[in-house]
Amino acid sequence: MSQLKLNHYIDGAYAAPLKNQYLDNVNPAKGEVYSQVASGTSEDVELAYKAASKAFPAWSTTPAEDKFKILNRIAELIDESNERFAEAESLDQGKPVWLAKNEMKRAAQNFRFFATGQMHFASESHAMEKGTINYTLRKPLGVVACISPWNLPLYLFSWKIAPALAAGNCVIAKPSEFTPYTANLLGEICTKAGLPAGVLNIVQGLGQHVGEALVTHEDIKAISFTGGTATGKRIASIAAPMFKKLSLELGGKNPNIVFDDCDLDKAIETSVKSSFLNQGEICLCGSRILVQKGIYERFKERFVEKVNALNVGPPKNKDSFLGAIVSEPHYKKVLGYIEMAKEEGGQLLTGGMSLHPKGHEKGFYIAPTVIEGLKAKARCNLEEIFGPVVSIMPFETEEEALTIANGADYGLACTIWTNHLERAHRMANKIQTGIVWINCWLLRDLRTPFGGTKSSGVGREGGWEALRFFTEPKNVCIQVNLNKP
Ligand code: NDP
Repeated sequence: MSQLKLNHYIDGAYAAPLKNQYLDNVNPAKGEVYSQVASGTSEDVELAYKAASKAFPAWSTTPAEDKFKILNRIAELIDESNERFAEAESLDQGKPVWLAKNEMKRAAQNFRFFATGQMHFASESHAMEKGTINYTLRKPLGVVACISPWNLPLYLFSWKIAPALAAGNCVIAKPSEFTPYTANLLGEICTKAGLPAGVLNIVQGLGQHVGEALVTHEDIKAISFTGGTATGKRIASIAAPMFKKLSLELGGKNPNIVFDDCDLDKAIETSVKSSFLNQGEICLCGSRILVQKGIYERFKERFVEKVNALNVGPPKNKDSFLGAIVSEPHYKKVLGYIEMAKEEGGQLLTGGMSLHPKGHEKGFYIAPTVIEGLKAKARCNLEEIFGPVVSIMPFETEEEALTIANGADYGLACTIWTNHLERAHRMANKIQTGIVWINCWLLRDLRTPFGGTKSSGVGREGGWEALRFFTEPKNVCIQVNLNKP
């Protein structure tokens, strides 16, 4: 098993790293190395860049219908390989296989969505007086970089790659070093789908090597990055003075606000998911649960009861709702935050410890954890833990809920539970997040703008926003002499 080698995909073929260096890749469910992943360097990035820039003239002028056929075929092939991809994703990431299967469908959907989207992409035209007209040309940027994290590996990888390719760019993409497997499999599928060599290149390895080489590369025109806020800051500090286009989707500390006039059953049911789906490793998870005083005790009792009923176990088990935490360093980080929460005066209502399922004793499992009694400004209420840990706290008024919710540096997403029409709109208007869900969570229409405010990032992905990001607008103003025959 440890012989499996996950190489780069450059110029339409798998390629070993030029320096022939590999990193151990661990299966978090067992805490064991199961493969070796190529540890790329700037030399590998340069090779990928050469392939991408060679492919650009032809790809950037490929007719929309031809691009549609290839990108749509990639989607079909991912769907046809759903099981294989899901198992690979789960092996790498630790998430339950049933969940990975759903995510693989969504990865395919990303390609399908932008395959059709680029067929309908249009630019503006603005007529002026005296026979003058402006029109906007939208050209692909050239070679662009897509850098993605480990939590929803192929889903987030494809969410960037698909619009970049659809808009006519050539791409160098880097998955997280912790979750390289499905990105590696994607290479095979792209070749099978007829994507010309060099249009998509996947360079595996560490952020500090491959990621930095992409960000500092003089001829890479744009960086689309999803990951932590500290990494985003570093990327911005390098790329901004180089005048690269930047899209940064960063961390979150999302409030889940439950008013006493809500549908309590639905709020509790969904809050269990929004707290613990994918082990809480979704940037959109609601990690701060604010509950109005009148229903606080009832909510808490029923919520904790449901959390206690969740199964944590090996990802292959059909009844595991939570699998393993992605890596040992992250597992230790999450456990460290639980200790910090106790020091900050928090009381554990449930969870708070690591688990060791039979046959998987060395895996990285943490019980879903609910903490009460933390101050709104406690570090555990302000910093992103990104694991199966939520804090629950009471509030009295709308203003108080808003103050707490907006009190964090992050501004990615928020969920509001209320049946009061005006309150719902008022809160949505005042909350400082890029995404607001009212009486629901994680419903995603791919046409909507996706992204955060404050420390959660810059720019928006999704729909036209993504195609606009991956193209350069050029205004052409032309005056026609209307008086001449
Ligand atoms: P990181 O920021 O550590 O890494 C993200 C990616 O960037 C990885 O591929 C990483 O490589 C790479 N990277 C690391 N350092 C550099 C660098 N100096 N230059 C260029 N690339 C670099 O995030 P995580 O992988 O830990 O992901 C978790 C984070 O992602 C959380 O904060 C989460 O909130 C956020 N996230 C945000 C989402 C959003 O849409 N807003 C969605 C999902 C997650 P490697 O790991 O191989 O070193």
